[in-house]
Amino acid sequence: MGDCLFCGIAARKIPARIVYEDDLIVAFDDIRPQAPTHTLIIPREHFSSLADVPAEKAGLLSHMLLKAREIAEDKGISRSGYRIVLNTGRDSGQAVFHIHFHLLGGRPMSWPPG
Ligand code: 5GP
Ligand code: ZN
Repeated sequence: MGDCLFCGIAARKIPARIVYEDDLIVAFDDIRPQAPTHTLIIPREHFSSLADVPAEKAGLLSHMLLKAREIAEDKGISRSGYRIVLNTGRDSGQAVFHIHFHLLGGRPMSWPPG
């Protein structure tokens, strides 16, 4: 997608602190971190949100999730705990319409979310 911010980051046209990448996904630190660890995990392929991911892409979603777990281990927040967030659509507050998991950790978090 030509003018998509996260496609630009995946293509390394827009700078970001990339913490992991492979053929399918890229993980990079959020520019406005909401916790000591705040990393975004995206697929290289553009989907606007979870609502637009076809069921055949279940393997890609699993890969993103399992890699988020691995990054949590690497960042040392596995034992203390972490939250993975997937904002989808207007009411969720989704602002960037290229699907991304937020991996948040390093501080206690409240529930319910705002
Ligand atoms: P959303 O609200 O769509 O779930 O989250 C979008 C996230 O992308 C926000 O946490 C925001 O701080 C982050 N973000 C927006 N623009 C950039 C950017 O240019 N670089 C990085 N690394 N993160 C960004
Ligand atoms: Zn995109």
